[in-house]
Amino acid sequence: MAREYLKKATLTSKSDASDVHDTVVKILADIEAGGDEAALKYAAKFDQYEGNVLLTPAEIEAACALVPDKLKEDIQFAHDNVKRFAEMQKSTVADVEYEVVPGLTAGQKAIPVDAAGCYAPGGRYSHVASAIMTVTTAKVAGCKHITACSPPRPGIGIAPAIVYAAHICGADKIMAMGGVQGVAAMTFGLFGLPKANILVGPGNQFVAEAKRILFGRVGIDMIAGPTDSLVLADHTADPHIVATDLVSQAEHGYNSPVWLVTDDRELAQDVMARIPALIDDLPDVNRENAAAAWRDYAEVIVCANREEMAATSDEYAPEHLTVQAEDLTWWLDRLTCYGSLFLGEETTVSYGDKAAGTNHVLPTSGAANYTGGLSVHKYMKIVTWQQATREGSKPVAEATARISRLEGMEGHARAADVRLAKYFPDEAFD
Ligand code: NAD
Repeated sequence: MAREYLKKATLTSKSDASDVHDTVVKILADIEAGGDEAALKYAAKFDQYEGNVLLTPAEIEAACALVPDKLKEDIQFAHDNVKRFAEMQKSTVADVEYEVVPGLTAGQKAIPVDAAGCYAPGGRYSHVASAIMTVTTAKVAGCKHITACSPPRPGIGIAPAIVYAAHICGADKIMAMGGVQGVAAMTFGLFGLPKANILVGPGNQFVAEAKRILFGRVGIDMIAGPTDSLVLADHTADPHIVATDLVSQAEHGYNSPVWLVTDDRELAQDVMARIPALIDDLPDVNRENAAAAWRDYAEVIVCANREEMAATSDEYAPEHLTVQAEDLTWWLDRLTCYGSLFLGEETTVSYGDKAAGTNHVLPTSGAANYTGGLSVHKYMKIVTWQQATREGSKPVAEATARISRLEGMEGHARAADVRLAKYFPDEAFD
């Protein structure tokens, strides 16, 4: 049976891509040419902010003092979980050496990049958790300079809880600047910042496009743009929980797709019937976001069986993937394309988004086809080295010279010849 769409999206993440691209190219060019002054001009234009850009120690202290104690405890709890998970990840990258042929040893080292630029979004919501996710992992990776950057609220500055989170997680500098101008400032080393070696963190379509364009002159974690989420549910799923989870992710923004994929038409209809009331019950801004996302970007797909559900999910390659179905082990083994997987009703994307310890900076718009989410590995350069004895170099030199000549690369061949002639002067080589 072909997939049946009970609801089909009228818009996708590609819908306004070319307008966004043109806007971002222009802003980046202006800022590269105009430096600090041009970046400030865009901060005033998009965020109506003309205050201090790099927070002073006194400003950081004052912002931290505004954060309620209970929230500080929760931020600490989330930080500790993200840190422990990142440390576990780091322990899986070993510096190793290996004798490839007798006398020739090669090795691998993992070296953290020096300067990380961490973006914590702040347009619609105060993404405190993004500051925790990006700064903590950079710190565990061993980056020497960590800049945290987030959009200021008009006339106010960065949300105090974001400042607090960035500070306790280990940011060396905190910058009140958002969007393309924030990303550009970290890349070009404006306001006295070290030029970032890598830009990490999620953001809206402008932030994601800026990172994509700048990739090459600076590293990026991945394309982590507007959030998307897919729920796989069978007849065992609780329709109220499925509907609540879909709405919780649609709240991210007007352009945040949520997809339900099921083999149970009745469940699908039940979930769809519940969603409008759940959206209506949200506070104003959240309601507007979720309603637009549900109207324009959401899909509900009925499949013939779980294999077709899994194939559909892999094709969408969602950022967040939830399974509320029987036999969770089967799904864990079968699914291959997702940023982060949430197995069973007892966990939810919100846990991963805020406090469970796995990173919430994840690939969007199908990027989960080729990459996972943010981890310490994204800040680490896996480099190689080699060293040989004279005997060890002999067979490698002979093969190198022959392959190089076959390729027409005489200079390469001579770099091998010169060694053979020096170390083995009494021998003849082809
Ligand atoms: P944001 O910080 O990403 O963007 C705000 C900035 O956008 C502003 O500072 C402004 O400079 C810029 N901007 C706004 N309108 C503009 C325009 N017309 N032209 C140029 N620049 C403009 O905050 P946001 O907008 O709330 O978006 C947060 C995004 O992060 C959401 O889309 C959410 O889904 C996403 N997100 C993704 C992940 C992930 O891991 N992929 C995680 C959390 C959040």
